[in-house]
Amino acid sequence: MNIKVSEIFGPTIQGEGALIGQPTVFVRTGGCDYRCSWCDTLHAVDSKYRHDWKAMSAVDIFARIKELSGNAPLMISLSGGNPAIQDLKPLIDIGHKQGYKFALETQGSIAKDWFADLDILTLSPKPPSSGEKTNWAEFDKCLKAADNNPEIALKIVIMNDEDYTYAKDVHAKYPKLSIYLQPANHSLENLDIDGMNKHMLWLINKVMQDKWFNVRVLPQLHVMLWGNKKGV
Ligand code: SF4
Repeated sequence: MNIKVSEIFGPTIQGEGALIGQPTVFVRTGGCDYRCSWCDTLHAVDSKYRHDWKAMSAVDIFARIKELSGNAPLMISLSGGNPAIQDLKPLIDIGHKQGYKFALETQGSIAKDWFADLDILTLSPKPPSSGEKTNWAEFDKCLKAADNNPEIALKIVIMNDEDYTYAKDVHAKYPKLSIYLQPANHSLENLDIDGMNKHMLWLINKVMQDKWFNVRVLPQLHVMLWGNKKGV
């Protein structure tokens, strides 16, 4: 079965979350069941871009990954959109046989058995400012599907106080999972580094005032370096 692919690019560094800084090839799939208000990858979400998405076999995707990575088995990041919409098991199986590792990020709205085959699963439930509502029963199915096999991390985007409270509640619900907080990108059209820095400092201050010490606060490094461009 073919996989809808919005873009394949890299290697470059992972710009956010648990693998920040790690050399990675990205496979961004097309399509998402959410429409977050601040989505910065609409080209992989909105069906008006679907003609740009290429239907590719797992073999062809992996051939492109190998070409980009120069055959060096590095981390492959599966993102979207929501990559859980697709059947990525064949790609993961092919890559694992050749020593590549797979990280996947999803909002946790669709569970797939093959989550257990991943090396790293980042669950990124969307806070109130996204305009979406988390279905916790589905989210728990994602955790169950992972079956304690991949390393699992939570990543939550924070726009405002309400989102911050949401993140605290999520961490209280899943205290054993490592959690990464990421300031929301306010400047989707025109990059505003100063505004991003201020938002990051606001979030750091809140975390410190609360003595919430088992959390990590990270910027979107790739946005600070390259802005909101595709393919970096
Ligand atoms: S879940 Fe992610 S990709 Fe989908 S709309 Fe929200 S931010 Fe965009």
